[in-house]
Amino acid sequence: MYSIASVKCPICGVEFRPTFRSSNREEAEVTCPNGHIFTVFVPSGDSVFDCEIRDWERFGLLPQATQQAVLEVIYSGKVPNELQSLMRRLKEAGIVVCT
Ligand SMILES: [Zn+2]
Repeated sequence: MYSIASVKCPICGVEFRPTFRSSNREEAEVTCPNGHIFTVFVPSGDSVFDCEIRDWERFGLLPQATQQAVLEVIYSGKVPNELQSLMRRLKEAGIVVCT
């Protein structure tokens, strides 16, 4: 099962963490706790599910714009193509840890 960052139901506005089967499709149907079914974007490739900054000291040495981009990636749970290699390097360096 995959899980992604919490999503907001467009119908009733409740926020929850959906889970669904692994899929190559970019979208998946999820059901909110109130039974509304809607479609969410599913990141493919390198995922940042449940990632966090582990090494703030070294993270703080990155350029401000890079820090901002990484935080946005972690917050959104989506890795834009141009940040794939950066995220991979940060994970390899142990600065970002994903579960
Ligand atoms: Zn709902």
